Amino acid sequence: MTAEGPLLPGATLGVLGGGQLGRMFVLAARVMGYATVVLDPDPDSPAGRLADIHLKADYGDAVALLRMGSLCQAVTTEFENVPAASMRMLARHCRVAPDPSALAVAQDRLEEKHHALASMCDTAPFADIDTESDLDAAWQAIGAPALLKTRRLGYDGKGQVRVGSRDELSAAFIRLGRVPCLLEGFLPLEREVSVVLARNTEDAVAFFPVAENLHRHGILDMSIVPARIPEKLAQRAREMAAHLARELDYVGVMAVEFFVLRDGRIVFNEMAPRPHNSGHYTLDATACDQFQQQVRALCGLPLGDGRLLSPVVMVNLLGDAWAPEPAWLELLRHPGVHLHLYGKSEARPGRKMGHYNCLAPSLEEALDLARETRARLGID
Ligand code: AMP
Repeated sequence: MTAEGPLLPGATLGVLGGGQLGRMFVLAARVMGYATVVLDPDPDSPAGRLADIHLKADYGDAVALLRMGSLCQAVTTEFENVPAASMRMLARHCRVAPDPSALAVAQDRLEEKHHALASMCDTAPFADIDTESDLDAAWQAIGAPALLKTRRLGYDGKGQVRVGSRDELSAAFIRLGRVPCLLEGFLPLEREVSVVLARNTEDAVAFFPVAENLHRHGILDMSIVPARIPEKLAQRAREMAAHLARELDYVGVMAVEFFVLRDGRIVFNEMAPRPHNSGHYTLDATACDQFQQQVRALCGLPLGDGRLLSPVVMVNLLGDAWAPEPAWLELLRHPGVHLHLYGKSEARPGRKMGHYNCLAPSLEEALDLARETRARLGID
């Protein structure tokens, strides 16, 4: 039986996935007085270790899903590639957000782009490639330079290859495993920005400030907030993100990534149906953070205040910085640094181990603090 009305502290909330996003959701929920259940096969998962109950089973395990559905009044997910069938199964027993249909859109770059266009967002020019026979038409439509991206399961720059000629396109399609792809025009980027927002069942939308994101080897490296873009562009980004959330009838926290082009245009890149790495600055720098907001949206509560309280720069800590263990004292001697570690025992290159937020009275000082601490940790 699905609960109606707001779910108040004391209720039990579940999350599919036990990574760092699940962990920060669990922390927020527990602080707010909710009990928590995590479903993740990894016995050592970052979220599972902090939850009241950790169901150690696969995401498609019917018995575990039934148990989760009977324990929880509401369930969310921390990653988009959770089987839609599992969410549907859970939806028979408890409230589920986001809706499985919104997850399905976010799992597929082509679907995402169609919904973005329907929501008045510009996108990079793109052509759909199902099989080798589509390559000629796609190349004619897009041409060089271009990026070939898998429609599914791409993240952190994985599942994409830059192509400069028709021959390279054939080679890239083979390299990506001949799976359905998109060929995208390679745009002249000036900056990358993202909007994290929350929408609840009453159609209220709350925004967090626009973040400017710097990547390294395809992985988010730093977020700078507020983004160094004109307010008119920031406003346009918020509007596009809100249109998309409404078009999907989305309930929960979602992130939308945009490209700011050298000619001043702003175009949709992709969405994530969950809190986002580029929203981790909210843990220390906004009145309500993205995980508290996720709890509120899931529980059908009024949304919190996402107002920025301080300029902030978020620095990601990848496993590469663990050889040897980072010099924490060098970092923590700065009063403006707020450290978040995800409790992962094994540090591998490229693995997200934690992040820290640098707060300062001005953005320039926050950037200086980020640069100085990175250098001391040997990140640069
Ligand atoms: P994605 O996985 O789509 O977010 O792409 C990873 C990164 O590749 C982005 O953060 C951009 O830096 C770059 N990128 C992706 N698509 C384009 C594009 N159409 N034009 C230029 N750069 C792109």
